[in-house]
Amino acid sequence: MEIKENISLQSLHSFGCNEKANYFAKIDSIEAIEKCIQWAKEKDIPYFILGAGSNILFTKTFEGLVLKMEIMGIKKIKETASEVFLEVGAGENWHHFVSYCVQKGWGGLENLSLIPGTVGAAPIENIGAYGVEAKDSIASVTAYDTQIAQFIILQNSDCAFGYRTSLFKMDKTRYIISSVQFVLQKQPIFRTEYGAIKEVLHQKNNKQASLDAIANAVIQIRSEKYPHPQKLGNAGSFFKNPTVTKAIFETLIAAYPKIIAYPISDNAYKLAAGWLIEDCGWKGKQKGNVGCYEKQSLVIVHYNNGPGIEIFNFSEEIIQSVLSKFGILLEREVVIY
Ligand SMILES: Cc1cc2nc3c(=O)[nH]c(=O)nc-3n(C[C@H](O)[C@H](O)[C@H](O)COP(=O)(O)OP(=O)(O)OC[C@H]3O[C@@H](n4cnc5c(N)ncnc54)[C@H](O)[C@@H]3O)c2cc1C
Repeated sequence: MEIKENISLQSLHSFGCNEKANYFAKIDSIEAIEKCIQWAKEKDIPYFILGAGSNILFTKTFEGLVLKMEIMGIKKIKETASEVFLEVGAGENWHHFVSYCVQKGWGGLENLSLIPGTVGAAPIENIGAYGVEAKDSIASVTAYDTQIAQFIILQNSDCAFGYRTSLFKMDKTRYIISSVQFVLQKQPIFRTEYGAIKEVLHQKNNKQASLDAIANAVIQIRSEKYPHPQKLGNAGSFFKNPTVTKAIFETLIAAYPKIIAYPISDNAYKLAAGWLIEDCGWKGKQKGNVGCYEKQSLVIVHYNNGPGIEIFNFSEEIIQSVLSKFGILLEREVVIY
């Protein structure tokens, strides 16, 4: 293992802020995880696992060891008449893995095409899009438990998956995911209910849905909706969609009839955070190096080479204006360091 000192993180995360790490190493094996954590513990410094850096905002120097996850490999571990089980290294690129499954004709992940990042980070946020979440196809997760200094396997039901959250997110420094086991369907169920997917399939005259057609539709929609991080720094949706009680929703809809929301249970509604932000006048607004993307107000963009704290402060201003207008406290989806 090679540990480097004073390394810039600028090219290693999608906001591209010029923050640094005191120490940096790449981890490409389970032995490297153990050695690096041991090294950080002996030095008594914090550590941070970095995937592709597409859901993180660094606002200062990381005064510890950043470990870049590079464990690779896709391996078939079991196959039945209806399902295929794969073990995938945490450092594999998520979109490449999804495309691999689509090419093989194995269904489950096609709606999650083109989400930036690594396979190992997918369970952390329980990434989701177009009616599908990673948890729907995760069988189990292998992780190094730094508390007991051992590798463990957590079954899907052990992972406390929820909307953009999981056990791994709640206890951020405890688990280092080394691989994820997926279960994919050989006779896929196509999920095309989402309006935009339906529309693209219709435009392309795809009368019969297929994994390929859905993946291509999702790629088209996402390419139009999100700025490419290599062209314009961003981390996708910066905020989560807030959940409110039915009573709060009814008060809000009476005052703001155009508010966008949908029921998630008998007594709870999910509000579209993008609508709240847009209604406060943020869409397309720029301040210094930072702005609210003109096509999608949930996305904060970084125009120039500014410091991470400027992006954080901009997000704080959005949070305060939504709070004072609607009484709703937005929660950041992006990890802040
Ligand atoms: C343009 C754009 C669009 C996006 N669209 C979506 C979307 O539609 N849906 C969605 O859910 N997300 C979306 N995201 C967010 C992002 O793609 C996901 O959160 C992704 O899973 C992040 O992966 P990463 O490897 O870049 O993680 P990083 O940003 O590197 O890390 C994120 C967090 O996970 C931890 N982590 C990473 N890998 C490991 C590991 N192996 N073990 C332990 N901890 C780890 C890190 O410490 C950090 O806390 C989008 C981002 C961008 C830039």
